[in-house]
Amino acid sequence: MTAPAHTRSSAELIRAEEPVLAHNYHPLPVVVASAEGAWVEDVEGRRYLDMLAGYSALNFGHRHPALIEAAHRQLDRLTLTSRAFHNDRLAEFAERLAELTGHDMVLPMNTGAEAVESGIKLARKWAYDVKGVPADRATIVVAADNFHGRTTTIVGFSTDETARTGFGPFAPGFRIVPYNDLAAMEAAIDDTTAAVLIEPIQGEAGVIIPDDGYLAGVRELTRRKGCLFVADEIQSGLGRTGRTLAVEHEGVVPDLVLLGKALGGGIVPVSAVVGSREVLGVLRPGEHGSTFGGNPLAAAVGTAVVELLETGEFQARAAELGVILRDGLTELVGRGVVGFRARGLWAGVDIDPAIGTGREISERLMREGVLAKDTHGSTIRLAPPLTVTAEELRSAIGSLEKVLTQGA
Ligand SMILES: *Cc1c(COP(=O)(O)O)cnc(C)c1O
Repeated sequence: MTAPAHTRSSAELIRAEEPVLAHNYHPLPVVVASAEGAWVEDVEGRRYLDMLAGYSALNFGHRHPALIEAAHRQLDRLTLTSRAFHNDRLAEFAERLAELTGHDMVLPMNTGAEAVESGIKLARKWAYDVKGVPADRATIVVAADNFHGRTTTIVGFSTDETARTGFGPFAPGFRIVPYNDLAAMEAAIDDTTAAVLIEPIQGEAGVIIPDDGYLAGVRELTRRKGCLFVADEIQSGLGRTGRTLAVEHEGVVPDLVLLGKALGGGIVPVSAVVGSREVLGVLRPGEHGSTFGGNPLAAAVGTAVVELLETGEFQARAAELGVILRDGLTELVGRGVVGFRARGLWAGVDIDPAIGTGREISERLMREGVLAKDTHGSTIRLAPPLTVTAEELRSAIGSLEKVLTQGA
C-alpha cells in the first residue's frame, strides 16, 4: 500500500474543501489516500484501523483481491449497456443472489435509497394489483427512529428532525409506529396497508436490536393481516451479523429484502430488491428502472460479492469475532461504557456522556489510529470489515479502553 505523492497536506486538503464542497457532512479530520484490508492510510502516511467499514459497504475490507480482480477483468471488457440491451453478466448475478438469499427474483438498482424507493413502489403496485387496495390509498407502516436513506419520500417518514426539516412537503401514505412494538404495529395495519417496512436491526439509530420474537412476530402479523413484510437489510445484511441476512436469526423470510452497501464490494454502488415472484412479478416494462441498475460492472462485482458469501466464511467470521467484540465491550461496562448492543461484528456503544460526546471519543480514537463514527449523542458505532483479525479487533478495543479510561 503506497500513498500517492501529495502536493497538499491533510490540513490543506481539508481547508480546500470548505469553500467548494457542500457542507452536508461533518467528517473526522482525516484524509484517506489509500487502503488495504482493514487498514487505511492518510496523506501523511499515518495508518488507521477502519472500524466503520463504510457503514458496512466494506464488509470484505478495502480492495479485497477477488473483488478487485473481478472489477479489473470487467473494466477491460464491458462496463455499461443500459437495460435497453441485455448484458452477459446480469443473469448470473441475479441467479446467484436469488439463490444466496433464498428468494425468487431480483430487481437490481444502485444505491440503498433506490432499493428502498423500489421496495415502496413494488409494495404499492402489489397492493393495487393483487390485494385490491383502491387507487392511491395504499399505506406503508414504518418504525420510529428508522433510517432508510435520503430521498424526499424517505426522509418524509423519518423521525429525525435534522433529516426532515426544510425538505417538505412530503409524500403521504406512511404510518409511523414505535420500533419493537407489535401491538402498535397491529393497530396501524388496516385494509389499505401494502407493507410494513423495517430494519431488522436499526443501524443509524445506534444498532438497536429488537426483542427476540419481534421479527417473527412481524412476519406472522403481516401474513395474518394480508400485507407485505419488507426488510431493509442494506446495513444489517450480507454477513454483518453472523448470518447472510439478519432476519435469519429468527428464521424469518420477508416478502422483500432490500440490499445495498456491501453488495458493491466497496467498489461501485450496487443495490437490489430480492423477493417473491408474487411481488416482483407485478412490474411490467417501463414501470420502473434505472440507467445504471444491473450494469455489467456492477453485476460482475456483485457476483464476486455473492461468491464470497456463498462460502459462509465471512458469516462465520462475523459470528466468531463477534464474541471477542462482545466480551471486550462487556469488560468496559462501568469503565466509560454505560451500555452496548452487539450482534456479529456490529455494535452500538453508549459512552458515559461525562467522558465526552460520541464525536469527541471518535476524534480521540482517530488519534490512537482507530476510525469509528458516532451516531446519536454519545453512541459510537463499531462495524469493522469482516476480514479484521482477532488481534486487530482486540487492539481496537484496547484503544477504546485507553481513550475512555485515560482521557486524551
Ligand atoms: C445506508 C442505508 C440506506 C441508504 O443507502 P444509500 O446507499 O446511502 O442510499 C438505507 N437503509 C439502511 C438501513 C442503510 O443503512
